[in-house]
Amino acid sequence: AVEANAITFAYPGASRPVLRDVSLGIARGERIAIVGENGAGKTTLAKLLVGLYQPDAGSVLLDGAPLTEGRAVAIRRRIAAVFQDYASFQLTLRENVGFGDVARLRDDQALAVAAKRADLEAFVATFPDGFDTYLGRQFGDTELSGGQWQRVALARAFFRDADLLVLDEPTAALDPLAELALFERFAELVEGRTAIMISHRLGAARLADRVIVLQDGQIVEQGHHDALVDQGGVYAALFAAQAQWYR
Ligand code: ADP
Repeated sequence: AVEANAITFAYPGASRPVLRDVSLGIARGERIAIVGENGAGKTTLAKLLVGLYQPDAGSVLLDGAPLTEGRAVAIRRRIAAVFQDYASFQLTLRENVGFGDVARLRDDQALAVAAKRADLEAFVATFPDGFDTYLGRQFGDTELSGGQWQRVALARAFFRDADLLVLDEPTAALDPLAELALFERFAELVEGRTAIMISHRLGAARLADRVIVLQDGQIVEQGHHDALVDQGGVYAALFAAQAQWYR
């Protein structure tokens, strides 16, 4: 389980904190969606929950013990996160995906499963050297679009046998329905594992056990999609504005 206790966080040099006094408990196996407008602090909260950042005040606990910087490094294998600022390595596809679990870098079958889960399969089939194709302009001539790089990052996360998965708005490059399809795939894959999905679009929220609504660095509403829509508050208004995408 992951637990944030009254955390406050400001980026170095910023005059005001991005998150103020945020408390949140996530049970093992729970699927959470964090939603809110751009700039609300969603990504920052997720990075604090996986120990990439340390709070200025308050604490984050993982399985009851503080998630210090040292511990965050030690348990990195248990966490698979795909953030917007995902890394795209100018190496082969094998290396790009396999960095999720270097010990299995030569396991083509495992690589194929991860590629399939990330919806990369058909795309890989067009590569001249399969998994050994160099990606990017630096060494090869198979340049990928932003959306394709994101799928590669997703395959990397799937390849690692993590028990906490984070998918951060993977799809600035995708339209809402393509984004929803990717989140659906993600939700299927995480079965039984703890998952955090982040988006300013609400398609993913309906896949979650619980939706956390962030506004200006604070949690203003939380609950199941249906309950929040009935409540008629911030979430209901956001959903009404986007509903035409998901009908
Ligand atoms: P969201 O994910 O909801 O769009 P973010 O957590 O990315 O929100 O950002 C919240 C606020 O923090 C924004 O005002 C953003 O400009 C600022 N911010 C995000 N990342 C950084 C950073 N690395 N350094 C400084 N400010 C940042």
